[in-house]
Amino acid sequence: MTESWKYNGPIFDAHTHIQGVSVGRMVEIEEEFGISAQIAIDHSDGGPEEVRSQYPGRFVFARYLSLTDIAHYRVDPVIDEIGRLKDQGYSLAKSWFGPRWRDYIEDVPSDFSIDDPRLEPIFQALEDTKTPLLIHVGDPDTYYGNQYRDVDKYGTKKDHLAQLERVIERHPRLLFHLPHFASQPEIHRLPNLARWMDRFPNIVLDTASSRWMARELSKDVEPAREFMMKYSDRVLFGTDLASYREMNKSGYEGRYTAQKALWESSTQGRPLPFTDPDTEKSGGTIINGLDLPISVLRKLYWKNAIRIYGMPE
Ligand SMILES: [Zn+2]
Repeated sequence: MTESWKYNGPIFDAHTHIQGVSVGRMVEIEEEFGISAQIAIDHSDGGPEEVRSQYPGRFVFARYLSLTDIAHYRVDPVIDEIGRLKDQGYSLAKSWFGPRWRDYIEDVPSDFSIDDPRLEPIFQALEDTKTPLLIHVGDPDTYYGNQYRDVDKYGTKKDHLAQLERVIERHPRLLFHLPHFASQPEIHRLPNLARWMDRFPNIVLDTASSRWMARELSKDVEPAREFMMKYSDRVLFGTDLASYREMNKSGYEGRYTAQKALWESSTQGRPLPFTDPDTEKSGGTIINGLDLPISVLRKLYWKNAIRIYGMPE
């Protein structure tokens, strides 16, 4: 990056995706931007050991749990999978409930709910094996307004968040890594998210989706900054970059620059350095910087992830 930034130390990206192939290109670009460790959600079948041995000291691996089994309340294979995770080299489990998951899985029961008691053994198994869960529930408000208007099919954001809250409530000893600011970076949602943070010491957040964070937190810098200051020990930098998505170096650079401008600078009205489809027709996304102090940036980019997940092996 040609610009100069407040923080120039190492960066831990707590939210990336890999699929075995093309990891090399990803790492090469990341290193140019100071990303020296990362959580990789592994979508391959072979396990992570080959990638780990190629890049020692870099990766903490998350295993993507079978959504098809979960969707049909088939808990036994999922529990077996959880039992094998650590031996296979995974440190955490991942599951994904962006509302459009219902487009991908066949015959999802219409009343499916992640807090259904039938799924409890899965969360219990994670808790018993001390396996943190990176769980994505919900999506941006903008998606509910455009892609998920069919409420009968997709449900409401209010309901999705309430389901997740009930799951967290039942498992005070399970570490929940909630990506995308727990789907609540929208300014009007920050008070609820703060309530969760106060109520549940076992949740941490990541800042994945640079455009979502930039778009929403920029809308009112003061409460956004206050939130980041208050919960500075429990927010982890993340991008959601994926090794298998077609993206060149400038795509990566745009994501890093957007977040650096958001967290580190006091910029006003700076255009997001790539297109945000959600605001494309309404003037585009702009960044207003939060100008966080260096002590907070050090935690956000590095120290929190290392404290929680340890130095990658
Ligand atoms: Zn992701």
